[in-house]
Amino acid sequence: MTLRMPEPDAGVIGRRAEIARALRAIVPGEGVIDHPDELRPYESDGLTAYRQAPMLVVLPETTEQVSAVLAWCHAHGVKVVPRGSGTSLSGGALPLADAVLLGMGKFKRVLDISYEDRIAVVQPGVTNLAITRAVEERGFYYAPDPSSQIACSIGGNVAENSGGVHCLKYGLTTNNVLGIEMVLMDGEVLRLGGRHLDPAGLDLLGLMVGSEGLLGVVTEVTVRILPKPETARALLIGFSTVVGAGECVAEVIGSGIIPAGMEMMDRPAIHAAEAFVQVGYPLDVDALLIVELDGPSAECDHLIEEVERIAQKHGAVSTRISRSEEERAAFWAGRKAAFPAVGRLAPDYYCMDGTIPRRRLPEVLDRMRQLSEHYGLGVANVFHAGDGNLHPLILYDANKPGELDRAEAFGNDILRLCVEMGGVLTGEHGVGVEKRDLMPEMYSEVDLAHQQRIKCAFDPEQLLNPGKVFPTLHRCAELGRMHVHAGNLPFPELPRF
Ligand SMILES: Cc1cc2nc3c(=O)[nH]c(=O)nc-3n(C[C@H](O)[C@H](O)[C@H](O)COP(=O)(O)OP(=O)(O)OC[C@H]3O[C@@H](n4cnc5c(N)ncnc54)[C@H](O)[C@@H]3O)c2cc1C
Repeated sequence: MTLRMPEPDAGVIGRRAEIARALRAIVPGEGVIDHPDELRPYESDGLTAYRQAPMLVVLPETTEQVSAVLAWCHAHGVKVVPRGSGTSLSGGALPLADAVLLGMGKFKRVLDISYEDRIAVVQPGVTNLAITRAVEERGFYYAPDPSSQIACSIGGNVAENSGGVHCLKYGLTTNNVLGIEMVLMDGEVLRLGGRHLDPAGLDLLGLMVGSEGLLGVVTEVTVRILPKPETARALLIGFSTVVGAGECVAEVIGSGIIPAGMEMMDRPAIHAAEAFVQVGYPLDVDALLIVELDGPSAECDHLIEEVERIAQKHGAVSTRISRSEEERAAFWAGRKAAFPAVGRLAPDYYCMDGTIPRRRLPEVLDRMRQLSEHYGLGVANVFHAGDGNLHPLILYDANKPGELDRAEAFGNDILRLCVEMGGVLTGEHGVGVEKRDLMPEMYSEVDLAHQQRIKCAFDPEQLLNPGKVFPTLHRCAELGRMHVHAGNLPFPELPRF
């Protein structure tokens, strides 16, 4: 593990028993966990390469408790790491040894559903899929659908601006959240947005979505719900070359068609998925596209013909079109299970998440193949092709000395490649600790200082989720005017990782 985190504050750790007592007074009963065995389940999130037991876990149940916990921690200089379901793939919920882990798992209630306003008001611990489950009997659903939707919380989705297969057409979390209630680090409770569209003033809601637990703790979310489309049909298209599949994706989008989802898998991913779910994926192709069209039946039929025509033009060697809901679900089953399927190829895998302009796809995959040879590690690719959002899964064995380091170096090179191609470091998994040190590859000092000023406006003492997203800690007062004389850094006690 090469990751450096802020040095734990021994003074705070020394006050652990006193802190637990004070927090128990706010969240009584089983709301505070301090036994080492019971802290273990919290020591990691979905980025399991990194582990750290938290100092304490606190599980509040009401906004008032969250507010009181944060206000107490603020007054006593104790750091706090918010956590939803702990499925983050970028280490956003990784605990700190001197911080309280604030688990939002008890915020599990759907508070209100209005079909007239087409909204649902839910607590942040409600899972993504549970929102759809709550409204589906009336023919509605919540559109953003991360593959982790059975487990991940809507609070985590807001913090990560999560995406999924259907975000190509229906937008990411940010396009589907209308309002939130949040608590600032000093305990102040704030409401942004609501049941209506576009409130006046600065778009603080837009700022909060994707803020990775650095600006406040979300305690309530109002989401948009949509009526289920009349029809949804999918095409399964095999290509003998990745280039052909990439060109097909570009032309489908370029022609003005916006599929409900357009996903691509490369040969290793196709083989792993087929072995896992056995739904009849073609095994003699180098790339597989799953394209879903939805809407009125006649429109779907027309668009399917169009996509098929474009695919033929770019050398499709096999095409299947779903004839039933079961078949459509089967087409998706392999893609949705691709991560666990790839998990059977090697003891460990490292899931990357970068975004590139769609037209650079063949070039990027070719460079990735060269990197795979260079590092001596396999890679399988599944990705949201329509969005240009790549998810290379780097295969390694953590028990073999040096393999994790090689996997990390390989992953960093892939993300650098995404930036070089005109893309970005993350599509939907966030920066967290995973991409923190790569931020300067994409942003200048000035860009980063401005982002950190926003952090300072919300949390000047930098107590909320420190060590994430920003590659260096700055005291808020020094931002933008750090002068290093003769190598003597100001505030030398601040960890600069
Ligand atoms: C198998 C698998 C597949 C995945 N597929 C996808 C995918 O398709 N698309 C996608 O976008 N992501 C995907 N993810 C990543 C992950 O599920 C998402 O990032 C998800 O939104 C995290 O939600 P969570 O509740 O688990 O949050 P956590 O992991 O607990 O936390 C994530 C971040 O949110 C912050 N946070 C959590 N709750 C709150 C809150 N109430 N207030 C403020 N901050 C909070 C945390 O501090 C942390 O920074 C996948 C993960 C796995 C393991």
